[in-house]
This record gives sequence, structure tokens and C-alpha cells, in this order.
Amino acid sequence: MNNPSTLHSSMKPIEEILPLLAHPRKIVITHHYNPDADALGSTLALYHYLTVKGHSCTVISPNSMPDFLLWMPDADKVMIYDQQIAQSNEVIKESEILFCLDFNQVSRTKVMTQVLNDYAGIKVMIDHHLFPDVTFDYGISIPEKSSTCEMVYDFINASGDNQLITKMMAQCIYAGTMTDTGSFKFSCTSSETHRMVADLMDKGLVPAPVHQAVFDNYQENRLRFLGYVLSEKMMIFPNQHTALIAISREELNRYKINTGDSEGIVNFPLSIKNIIFSIFISERESEIRMSFRSKGNLDVNEFARKYFNGGGHANAAGGKSDDSLSETIEKIKNALNENESLFKTCYQESL
Ligand code: 5GP
Ligand code: MN
Repeated sequence: MNNPSTLHSSMKPIEEILPLLAHPRKIVITHHYNPDADALGSTLALYHYLTVKGHSCTVISPNSMPDFLLWMPDADKVMIYDQQIAQSNEVIKESEILFCLDFNQVSRTKVMTQVLNDYAGIKVMIDHHLFPDVTFDYGISIPEKSSTCEMVYDFINASGDNQLITKMMAQCIYAGTMTDTGSFKFSCTSSETHRMVADLMDKGLVPAPVHQAVFDNYQENRLRFLGYVLSEKMMIFPNQHTALIAISREELNRYKINTGDSEGIVNFPLSIKNIIFSIFISERESEIRMSFRSKGNLDVNEFARKYFNGGGHANAAGGKSDDSLSETIEKIKNALNENESLFKTCYQESL
């Protein structure tokens, strides 16, 4: 089940953790800062599974979760690290095993970086991003996988426990897989992904309410913001087959936009025929947050790494900038000019 080419040599294969789980353990499960459906879905699915297996589990999220994910079973039991620091540190200290899901660099937890670096127990990673850190004892890293949720499903199966998958686990797993695959349309969607969904439905999953809970659950302001962004703010660079949306703090405030509300907006410009690269940047408290999406062969993970200290996947990546919004826009424009021939080639290949 491990892919040796992407597994860091010092990290033991995840199967080797199974004997340690033969007895009840104190386990903490965590995910990256600003959790999305894959982060929360995978941690809660694993939480439900390990709890059924008799372990004593706590999910700790670095910061609060967006409202559209709070329907997930037991989301209300998740501890929020930056709101309960002393209590969370105590739970982490008491635990024997720490599962890190949907991230592969400890710094992606931001506020939990220190406590994870100092962790004395066993650190396990389950993730599908490129280039894992060296800090994990056991783990699995498969960048080709659709989602961390699908990897948790594989983990349960590899443990020989397919029959223990409940409707609650199925709902969590489905939610993260659905969002990370763009509702099963991105190229990371495999036949295994579809077979998993069939199995989850056999275990009681009803997909429609999950789609509705995640995608049809916005406030009016979010849709008005989307309208404003697409009509007033989308810049098109035809020569580079790129769209750029840059949002100031004032605009976020004007439309009362929280972090979760802007999620997914970056995908809209990709529905334009000639656009293969979409960039969405917004001015947050202490930095400019950046989202990159592409169609086809254009590797935006590489772009994010090279120019904006970020990373992610080939078609979906993120990054940050400590410059001002206007400086960041200029930097993006320069990077776009520098790569014009690459974008042209990728566009031709996409036809
Ligand atoms: P999003 O645009 O949804 O925030 O992120 C897209 C993808 O890029 C996600 O898989 C996310 O994990 C990854 N990503 C986002 N921001 C960063 C970052 O600052 N560093 C790295 N390495 N990956 C990121
Ligand atoms: Mn993911």
C-alpha cells in the first residue's frame, strides 16, 4: 500500500503501526490549520474508527472549523487548540500516539508547530501532499490519492476492518473525497475512488445531503460577494491563459467574508475556455493568502513553491506573501510574464 518513491526513508510504513493498535491506546488526531472537508472528514472518520476499536481518542483542530463542516458527526467534540491551549497541551502530553492527517509539514498546523515538534510519543502521518517532512515515525504518503479521506478508508481496509465502517464514518470520508476531487471530476479521481463510494453507499451513506450540507449552505453575503468578485474583480491575462482575483481586507469586511466563505471561488475562472490557471489572493490578518488552481498539465504546486513559499498538488496549491496586496499582484504579474511560454505550451496540450 505504500509507494516507496514518495515515502521518506526514515518513516516506517504505516502497516507497522497496526501491532501497536492491538491494545487500547490514548490517541490524538489532528489536521492542518484552517481545516477543509478533507482535513476534518479524515480526522473524524479515523476518530470514529479508532473509537469503535476501543481506543481513547481526541481530535484537536489547530483553529476553528468553518460552519459548513459542523454537521459532521462529533464535530462538536473537536477541541480547538488556539482556544483551549492549556487543555489541548495536556491531552497531547498524555497521549501515546498522534495521528497527523492531510498535512505533511508540521508547520502547516501553525499554532501547534511547537507542540508537535516537541511530541514525545509516536507520530503517524496519513497524507497525499508532495514532499513529506522527516519528522514522522510511521506514515503513508501517496500524492496520487484523491484525498486523505480515501487513505483513511484504505487504512481501515488494510487493518481488515471494512465491516466496521459505519454510516458516520462513511459520511465523513465521502465529504472530504467529494471536495478534494471537485465532486469527482479532477484527474485524481480513480476507479478505486468510485469503488470506495459504492462501498460507502452500501454502508448507509446518502450522498445528496452531504453535497447539500457542504455546497448549498452559504449565507446570502457569500453569493453577493461571488457576484461582485466575478463581475468586478477578475483580471484576465489572455497571453498567459491566466485569471487573477485579488481581494483587499476592506472588501472582505464589506461583504463580511470569513476564511471559509471564500473557499472554492478560485475554481470559477477555470470554467472559461482559454483559462488554464486561476489565482485567488486575499489580504488576511497578517499575510496575503494565495490559492492556485490549474487545468491539465500546468503544475501549480511548482509555481507556488518557486514564487510564494507554498505548495500543494499539481492542480491545486496554496501559498502566502508578506508583501502588500499591490506588491504581491506585481510579483504575480512578473512570474506570469516569466512563464508565458510554459502557459502557452500547457494550453496547447489541453486542447
Ligand atoms: P487552498 O487553495 O484550498 O488553500 O489549498 C490548496 C492546496 O494547497 C491544499 O492541498 C493545501 O493543502 C495546499 N496548500 C495551501 N496553502 C499551502 C501552503 O502555504 N503551503 C503548502 N505547502 N501547501 C499549501
Ligand atoms: Mn486533502
